[in-house]
Amino acid sequence: MYQARSLRAAIEFFWIGGQQLNIPLYVDLKLNNELLSGFSEEELLPWGINILWSLNQFERCDKHLVVWDVMAASMAFKQFAPRFIYHILSWWLPNLLNISSDGSRSLSNVASRKLHLINIICRRVFLSGTEVDKPDEPKSESSEEEKLWMQLLMRNERELRERLVGFSLSSALCVDDNSATGLRGNGCQDLVGIPQMVQWVRFDRDCVRRELDLLGSEVGRLTTRYVSSKKRLQGLYKCETEEQCSYCSAPVQFESPEFAICRGQRPNVGGSRDHKLLRCSVSMRVCPVTPTWFCVCCRRRASKLAPHQLYMMPGFPVDFMPLVRSENGNLCRKPLCPLCGILMQRSLPAFLLSPSPV
Ligand SMILES: [Zn+2]
Ligand SMILES: [Zn+2]
Repeated sequence: MYQARSLRAAIEFFWIGGQQLNIPLYVDLKLNNELLSGFSEEELLPWGINILWSLNQFERCDKHLVVWDVMAASMAFKQFAPRFIYHILSWWLPNLLNISSDGSRSLSNVASRKLHLINIICRRVFLSGTEVDKPDEPKSESSEEEKLWMQLLMRNERELRERLVGFSLSSALCVDDNSATGLRGNGCQDLVGIPQMVQWVRFDRDCVRRELDLLGSEVGRLTTRYVSSKKRLQGLYKCETEEQCSYCSAPVQFESPEFAICRGQRPNVGGSRDHKLLRCSVSMRVCPVTPTWFCVCCRRRASKLAPHQLYMMPGFPVDFMPLVRSENGNLCRKPLCPLCGILMQRSLPAFLLSPSPV
């Protein structure tokens, strides 16, 4: 059913893509000769309007993020009329392309859904074919333009990660509030990965928001407070600060929210057999060897579902507590990527076709 819907959307988009549909012209798209790359304005204008209309539709949180038709059209224009598609997309995200020195703070008022859409556009259109697995280390061969898109992607992902961590740490504080009277039904399940998140906040103290730093310190203090009754800590938080390698059971240190290196097996000098382990994009814990959810856009994995509230945030919350205590359920019922917003899927063998929402 999911594939059928995607297919129908794609066919409709390509069928109507170049047609003039009398969509209200809420934007004055001036296309000069430099943008047209040999096409006529009459040919490109309907495409530009339809792409903008589609992107605006997907800003509604109740609409599933299945945008591979828009991405396919944008990719084609990137090849044949690159300045045109850059012009269209810059109109849609006008202020975000001006990457300023104040880092992610300028993204505080951008809705999570829009951040997800921008991340997809960055990866699928402007950084397609480049090395974006390690955005912290831009490759020397990247063009200046690609570096800017990479910077934008990194800022967006950090912003979303801070929202996720802020929500999770607030959940931990909320459970502590309730501990005297008992836990909520699925409170424990929400708190997997809290020690890893606290460590991430400590590592990135110079970069994370002050609110997050305070939250991390408060949760860390609570964890320390309960050290004398570790059994209770385990029961409450269902997570351990110490992690083990999924392959050799050696201890694993927290060094990055993306991956971990196990240095447990060193049979002899020069014979290092380090294990590189992926971390869950939701909980930051080392992924188990059991099947996990896989995002076809950012290629991250997750073993836990992100909170539903992450996808609905209109901006960085001033206070997470009302969101944590809201009645809208603590867990998202669908496995959505926390950094791309699309439906994740189980990995399938290469010879099986799998649907791609982007
Ligand atoms: Zn290992
Ligand atoms: Zn993703």
